[in-house]
Amino acid sequence: MGSGRNIDEAGRRSPRRLHTSRTLPSFPTHPGLQSITGLRGALEFLEWPASEWTIKDLQDWFVDHLVTPGLMKRPQIVREPGATPVMLDPRADGGSNLEELIYKARGRVITALRGLIAPVADDRFLNAAIYGGRVRRAAVGGRPVWVASPREIDFLGDIVLSLLAADILLDREFYRAHLCICEVCGRVSFKDSPDARGVCAEHRSHVSGFTPRVR
Ligand SMILES: [Zn+2]
Repeated sequence: MGSGRNIDEAGRRSPRRLHTSRTLPSFPTHPGLQSITGLRGALEFLEWPASEWTIKDLQDWFVDHLVTPGLMKRPQIVREPGATPVMLDPRADGGSNLEELIYKARGRVITALRGLIAPVADDRFLNAAIYGGRVRRAAVGGRPVWVASPREIDFLGDIVLSLLAADILLDREFYRAHLCICEVCGRVSFKDSPDARGVCAEHRSHVSGFTPRVR
């Protein structure tokens, strides 16, 4: 397993982003990972602090990673358990409701991913995605794959998890071995070796002395 490859910045659809100083985590080079678009969308969602999102950002995110690839229709309203629903209308001001909604959705996604890589794995979110119809079987070039198929009424966290589940279901052992949630900053990335410490590249060289932040 070689080192991951970085996203080609020029290939990104979204020069609008003001977060260019933040680099996305590297992708795994696993040959079985076909639906890389979904994975990119999920990682992009997890990468930005909740406070930096605008309604326009969220709408663009939906369009880039879900609507344009044909995975779902654009929702009018975005929901998440425990958060006030937010209209997906750039003319509206999402304000603190948007931040809270994204914060809660991200928290649920990170919790699910932590379960996947826990010593005793809890990957119930994969079955939940299958039985909830948020992923479906398909064939690409004769190869069996999973495709995210969320609906407009699904919670935001479940929509993000559906993007991840479509990739993880192809090879969950790869994810269990290589998925990394930084124990310092919570960033999601991929590590080259299953034995590597659970910290991102930024914190790899100086982890001692930090207090792990849980979120
Ligand atoms: Zn980190």
